[in-house]
Amino acid sequence: MDSSSLSILGPLKPTSLASSSEEDPPNPSTALLSKTDSTSPKTTTTILFVSLLLITCIALAASGAFAFLFFSSASSFSSNSSQTSLNVESTARPLTKLDRPVVLLISSDGFRFGYQFKTPTPNIGRLIANGTEAQTGLIPVFPTLTFPNHYSIVTGLYPAYHGIVNNYFYDPITGDKFTMSSHEPKWWLGEPLWETVANHGLKAATYFWPGSEVPKGSWNCPVNFCQHYNGSVPFEERVDTILKYFDLPISEIPVFMTLYFEDPDHQGHQVGPDDPEITEAVANIDKMIGRLIQGLEKRGVFEDVTILLVGDHGMVGTCDKKLIFLDDLAPWIEIPKDWVHSYSPLLSIRPPAGVSPSDVVAKMTEALSSGEVENGMRLKVFLKEELPERLHYAENDRIPPIIGLVAEGFTVEQTRSNRKECGGAHGYDNAFFSMRTIFIAHGPQFERGRKVPSFENVQIYNLVTSILKVQGAPNNGTASFPNSIILPSS
Ligand SMILES: [Zn+2]
Repeated sequence: MDSSSLSILGPLKPTSLASSSEEDPPNPSTALLSKTDSTSPKTTTTILFVSLLLITCIALAASGAFAFLFFSSASSFSSNSSQTSLNVESTARPLTKLDRPVVLLISSDGFRFGYQFKTPTPNIGRLIANGTEAQTGLIPVFPTLTFPNHYSIVTGLYPAYHGIVNNYFYDPITGDKFTMSSHEPKWWLGEPLWETVANHGLKAATYFWPGSEVPKGSWNCPVNFCQHYNGSVPFEERVDTILKYFDLPISEIPVFMTLYFEDPDHQGHQVGPDDPEITEAVANIDKMIGRLIQGLEKRGVFEDVTILLVGDHGMVGTCDKKLIFLDDLAPWIEIPKDWVHSYSPLLSIRPPAGVSPSDVVAKMTEALSSGEVENGMRLKVFLKEELPERLHYAENDRIPPIIGLVAEGFTVEQTRSNRKECGGAHGYDNAFFSMRTIFIAHGPQFERGRKVPSFENVQIYNLVTSILKVQGAPNNGTASFPNSIILPSS
């Protein structure tokens, strides 16, 4: 364990072990309905009060009934013709072929929430209609970058706690550099799902996922069940390899599998989110989901397997004129290139020893708010401890002391140039709707046609361990979250 991991694990609140009375995003329909129940008319002395109470009751009952209908009526889209909106499932559907739950976690990189409406996506649509969907998308963690988010999905930890604080960063103690091909265990903190599964003596299989090639605990990236990253492998081959795992004797089928596609992130960076190339890439991802569904159906396991289809973040268009140049701050403060660890959309700065980070923040802020720096108002700089708490981006030495939050669609560069073209980017504040991605779940424990409110991807770890019925490691997810989204076992 490296020195930084001790300081990291210290402040981590083991919320998964906390009591289930902690606040979850409640199911809106039950929240409204229970409120109605608890409004018992007490003896009162004024007619006015009783009248108001009655009106409130009626309004609440009506809104509760509306919410109930709204959140349950979608189940009538079910392919199971015997089901109606009044016959809402209350327990998990029994397995017919497999002998225990199997979870297949699929990531489509940079699949911005809403891309599913760009073009017909019949296969993704089938998972949505017969499964449970985050109605307004899945919320990524900050920074909304690929490696931090993929590793949050499988550990339930915010980047400050799992250690992958950016796609590239330095360890300030050793000076070592992390890149997206660093597989030394010292970088990857927390306990990813494949490790949790292996620690329970169960099998996992990974067809690419950031961190999956790193040996940790009982997970040693086994040959044939852990693919080493190679972006040139055709998507079809990835899907077919996953399908072959279901040809193994039932007791040998891995209980947890990952599958990763680089698209449509790849196109999104080049052309932005609103280009025909994105539409084609989305249609192709849908085709891969179709190939997967067909293969599972052929093997008679489609209804038994739990499919979680997610993305890591969204995408927003960037264009020239939406630029901020650090060199423009020179009359107030010079920010040399070698202080800057990353520019955009996550600006992170580590001044050398002897230069006070607070002074740098003060001078940068003075410059940016002077009205004399082009687009200066579109960048806000913070000492990391003073970032909004909802970003959870401070508790790690690997995070440089100064962080800049860049307005949606803007880009920070060092020096003026003419080379900027329009494209796409992600990495911004996770509160931006453009950074949202998808959460679609299909399987025995997911109610058909159900919509749930948006939630952060750190909840997925507990969701998977609940479905697999294994004890997970402490993490930043809410212990009782899974009960709000999955059907109890029958
Ligand atoms: Zn990504």
